[in-house]
Amino acid sequence: MTTQVKHYINGEFVVGNGSQQIAVTNPANNETIALINCATADEVHSAIASAKAAFKSWKEVPVSERARVMLRYQHLLKEHHDELATILSQETGKTFEDAKGDVWRGIEVVEHACNVASLLMGETVENVARSIDTYSYTQPLGVCAGITPFNFPAMIPLWMFPLAIACGNTFILKPSEQDPMTPQRLVELFEQAGAPKGVLQLVHGDKTAVDILLRDPAIKAISFVGSVGVGQYIYKTGTDNLKRVQAFAGAKNHCVIMPDANKQQVINNLVGASVGAAGQRCMALSVAVFVGAAKEWLPELKEALAKVRPGLWNDPQAGYGPVISPAAKQRVLKLIQQGKDEGADCLLDGSDFSLEGHESGNWIGPTLFDKVTTEMSIYKEEIFGPVLCCMEAETLEEAIELVNNSPYGNGTSIFTASGAAARKYQHEIEVGQVGINVPIPVPLPFFSFTGWKGSFYGDQHAYGKQAVRFYTETKTITARWFESDIGTGPNMSIHLK
Ligand code: NAD
Repeated sequence: MTTQVKHYINGEFVVGNGSQQIAVTNPANNETIALINCATADEVHSAIASAKAAFKSWKEVPVSERARVMLRYQHLLKEHHDELATILSQETGKTFEDAKGDVWRGIEVVEHACNVASLLMGETVENVARSIDTYSYTQPLGVCAGITPFNFPAMIPLWMFPLAIACGNTFILKPSEQDPMTPQRLVELFEQAGAPKGVLQLVHGDKTAVDILLRDPAIKAISFVGSVGVGQYIYKTGTDNLKRVQAFAGAKNHCVIMPDANKQQVINNLVGASVGAAGQRCMALSVAVFVGAAKEWLPELKEALAKVRPGLWNDPQAGYGPVISPAAKQRVLKLIQQGKDEGADCLLDGSDFSLEGHESGNWIGPTLFDKVTTEMSIYKEEIFGPVLCCMEAETLEEAIELVNNSPYGNGTSIFTASGAAARKYQHEIEVGQVGINVPIPVPLPFFSFTGWKGSFYGDQHAYGKQAVRFYTETKTITARWFESDIGTGPNMSIHLK
């Protein structure tokens, strides 16, 4: 029997009554492993109503008790770490090592949420006027919602609901319909951690469910992570409906390689960051810009990339797994073909790769292009596959200009032995997350995930202090306590006296 994916509405795990069904498949062979009955409009509305009712009592739960739920949750996630990574590998095709990283980086955000009391601290100033003190509190917003992508089914939901809930909100999660079983397990463990009924809701589905969340006035804030077009739609529709929205979108991350960098370090890092997870990371390095003589390392880079073999999730020798779906594979193959047609030099072509015994899977071998220009489709579009595009620049200034002209600004790296070059790069580059001799600079949760430009729509970013600001409202109180009647008559001005 095929597993049925479950919604979690008003504290009950239910299969749901929706007639629209979506199959969850194993990307290594495209066999169906589970079925989703997409949530009906009534089910989504019922989740919203239940979250709205739960907010009334959850916001009154003392902050230290809310933090204790997160502490228990962190403990449970660690206890079930390998089980979660196994579910995740099976539905995404990610290697077990990579899946463990996905879970672990989510656990780190839960650890951050355990510290919510200090993150919620407001400000105080005594004696702003005679006998008057001013102080601020941070209070939760109400019901928040999260819409998440397929590529990090543990980490990205965990970017959102633990912090939102620790801040005193209730939350509705609508995960990707392509890998819903990892989020379902995350929610089951959250229930075990002792979260009261209604605090967290899980609804599965696609645009239909999202559109209800975007329009219902009970939803106060929307967190989204996914592709550019959908991110823009979510941001525009959510803000049109007067909601707070943070929308993390697609990317095209450049790596600048200076000739004084450590060659072996560059090659190792570029291989992992370009084709790791089959290139399906929003922080993948997809463009390598070789400055001056660094371009001579290209043959060695090609040799190293050619050695990476895609494989099954439980094969310890596999460098990465299949891409998520046949549609994703077709999209990447089309872009590889366009790269060739538009005149890029394809040094390594993974289009024909297939894993023996698993030919029906969504396999693509490592692919390397040289002589890529900014006009080509493989440069302009986010490929989201195991494809690295190489370009050249004469100077660091030229490389910086190239990167700054990109409409995206999620992440970038520079490899160099020069502090001056690194300092110039970090200062002048118009990208929100910069690695210096670090290929994928995803900040730990005490900082925030700070994509810029076309990679992010909104003001406050994920996790860190910014997420706490996103999920709360500031209330500022100005108070005077009289020791005795000061008897000065009415104050007719706005000036505090
Ligand atoms: P996607 O945009 O297709 O889907 C993301 C979510 O939006 C899913 O839950 C999906 O059901 C929903 N959705 C899809 N189409 C919709 C529509 N028309 N209306 C309303 N909702 C819709 O993204 P994906 O393919 O799952 O994920 C890959 C993308 O996510 C890549 O572009 C990647 O760069 C991006 N991403 C960005 C970050 C970041 O932090 N910037 C992190 C991870 C992934």
